[in-house]
Amino acid sequence: MLKELREIVQQVTASSDLNEAMNELVRQTRSAMNVDCCSIYLRQTHQQNYLLAATDGLAASAVGRAKIPLGEGIVGLIGDKEELINLADARSHPKFKYLPEAREDAFISFLGAPIIHQRKTLGVLVVQQKQERLFEEGEESFLVTLASQLATVIAHAEAKGNLRSPNWHGMLKGLAGSPGVAIGRAWVWRPRIVLAQVTERKADDPQLQHQRLDKVLIQVEDELNGMALRLQESQASESVAVLEVYQYLLKDPIFIALIRQQIDQGWIAGSAVKRICEQQIAQFGHMLDPYLRERAADIRDLGQRLLTRLIHEDEGMHSLSLDEPVILVADEISATLIAEIPPNKLKGIVSAKGSVNSHAAILARSMGVPAVMGIEHNFELLEDRLLIVDGYNGELLVEPVASVLREYKRLIKQEQQMDALFASVGNDKAHTLDEVPVTLLLNAGLSADTTISANDTVDGIGLFRTEIPFMLRDRFPSEQEQITTYRRVMANYAGKPVCMRTLDVGGDKQLPYFPIVEENPFLGWRGIRLTLDHPEIFLVQLKAMLRASHGLDNLSIMLPMVTNLDEVRVARRMLDRAWREVSAETPEHQIIRYPSLGVMIEVPSLLYLLPELAPLVDFWSVGTNDLTQYLLAVDRNNGRVANIYDALHPAVLRALQQIIDAGERFGKPVSICGELAGDPIGVLILLAMGYRRFSMNSSNILRIKYIVRQSRCDELKKLLAETEGQQQLGSIKQVFGRYLEERGLSGLLRGPR
Ligand code: PEP
Ligand code: MG
Repeated sequence: MLKELREIVQQVTASSDLNEAMNELVRQTRSAMNVDCCSIYLRQTHQQNYLLAATDGLAASAVGRAKIPLGEGIVGLIGDKEELINLADARSHPKFKYLPEAREDAFISFLGAPIIHQRKTLGVLVVQQKQERLFEEGEESFLVTLASQLATVIAHAEAKGNLRSPNWHGMLKGLAGSPGVAIGRAWVWRPRIVLAQVTERKADDPQLQHQRLDKVLIQVEDELNGMALRLQESQASESVAVLEVYQYLLKDPIFIALIRQQIDQGWIAGSAVKRICEQQIAQFGHMLDPYLRERAADIRDLGQRLLTRLIHEDEGMHSLSLDEPVILVADEISATLIAEIPPNKLKGIVSAKGSVNSHAAILARSMGVPAVMGIEHNFELLEDRLLIVDGYNGELLVEPVASVLREYKRLIKQEQQMDALFASVGNDKAHTLDEVPVTLLLNAGLSADTTISANDTVDGIGLFRTEIPFMLRDRFPSEQEQITTYRRVMANYAGKPVCMRTLDVGGDKQLPYFPIVEENPFLGWRGIRLTLDHPEIFLVQLKAMLRASHGLDNLSIMLPMVTNLDEVRVARRMLDRAWREVSAETPEHQIIRYPSLGVMIEVPSLLYLLPELAPLVDFWSVGTNDLTQYLLAVDRNNGRVANIYDALHPAVLRALQQIIDAGERFGKPVSICGELAGDPIGVLILLAMGYRRFSMNSSNILRIKYIVRQSRCDELKKLLAETEGQQQLGSIKQVFGRYLEERGLSGLLRGPR
């Protein structure tokens, strides 16, 4: 039966239509199990019943009509108990309920399995037979296996909206792409040219094709420059960096040479662009790193732009004209599409593809436009409908009822008031009401914002992630290239500390030109483990940092993923050597300052080595993102276990307390640079523990500064002491959440965490 099972599963999962999949499943299951009837009942929660959705054996006319109320009949019992029921004679069961319209009377034995997806009962799968008999164990497991596969298919169809009517209204769950709430009408965008649909053609005029390519390259470059200008004018200058990636691609000699090669092989310019873009999309699409994977979308967008110009000659893209501000809805939203919409006409963004790492999401965040990504729905049905984009919780509400609409309008108003409040603390010092000074630092380097500009609201840079300049190239950046990047950051923050972390690739961050294939990348060749194995890369980076700091003297260096003390000793020796060599090349009166050296505490082994670590380093900084991942054994990027990933888990909190206590005992400055530092509740708990240095993304700085200035450390300490011994997940959040509420900051509890 294994063969049949595999065949059914394959066909059912491959089908794009749920009804077709269900009909196929009942037909094939009836035949494979050699039974007289197979049926699927789907749970309709709103109507409080199970609906007969497919059958092979019962009256076909009952499909879509016969219903069993929840909790009634054997089907209802299976749903309630969430377990299989096997009956030799169903008629004698006290729960038996006869469905006359289904003409069920001929069947005696009954085997039913619940269809469950992520703990939710979606329906019941049943087989019946005219003969009185108990089903065998093998048949039971056959049915359970099918039910579990069917669950995935139904859940997917449900998520895609295939079970919804055109007038459906309600909530769709996606991913939070950019925080905030927007209310408006949907404007569904469809690309004019879809890369995959362009037919490839050959011609015998390569010279002309090269000329056509030259022309569109210039046109699209102009187009991008125009967009960058518009973004700059609309105060979204940070986001101009996003367009730089496009401009970089457009000028990438390898990319262009590959297209030209195709033309030389006889392809017309459009086909050459299509072929190379598709190759690159496939390459990026397979990358493990979520940031790089998203670059496939940039290439597709760029390709479509070039093709639009090539196919509809002289008809370029122009600024899209819209009468009213809208919520932009599209299968895939590119950064350039956002840039084309006048900023005062863009209220929110909804996209099927993409994630928090998409350039669309990065751009939306820098423009302050709420965005939800990963929404599965038939977008044609959304055109012009009223939507609420909840960018905090990653939710899209379609045609919300009046009370929900009112509530969201109130939230928007509250938010505007809060933003004004947070902005009011701008350049003020961060200290608590009981005069405890707090240092707020910036996490920088991630995404495209490598051109980090000066930010007067912070006290310096607490974590500069150096990976991205390495990722955006097709080889390791040279020492000079690194010096330029690092120098720009240190010069922008002259007079303030800048903490640069050495290369932390591996895990989910891969370099396109240095692939690492491992079964368990997060437990593999990552961070300091990799750089110590490659002193030629490590030394160049250390030297670049040192040289870039010349005359600015604001550099400190931090090592990622440290597991053993020996790693620190060896890294220190390398730093000594780099410093000696760099100093020897600098005229005597211009000594390069020896930087302080610290480590990230993110591998749990260090928790037990702090006394021995202390004499080897000048400071430590806690990477709560990885520390949580490794302490709880929960992949930080896996949505399936996202509900277990909790930086406020009692075990993580205990570790955090231990780390700051050790810092105080050994006189080492301690900071926090994981996401927890930018979390409103997280920062209160950390203040209570004794933390005073917090490094976070720029979007969190003002609100955290405001919270700090509204809090008293003595009160927070008392609150923390009161929660001692409460090891229940969530209780500490409630206690500190109330503290925020009492200060009129309940709105902050809404954000994703
Ligand atoms: C961390 O792990 O908390 C951290 C700040 O580093 P990254 O997120 O870059 O791994
Ligand atoms: Mg980390």
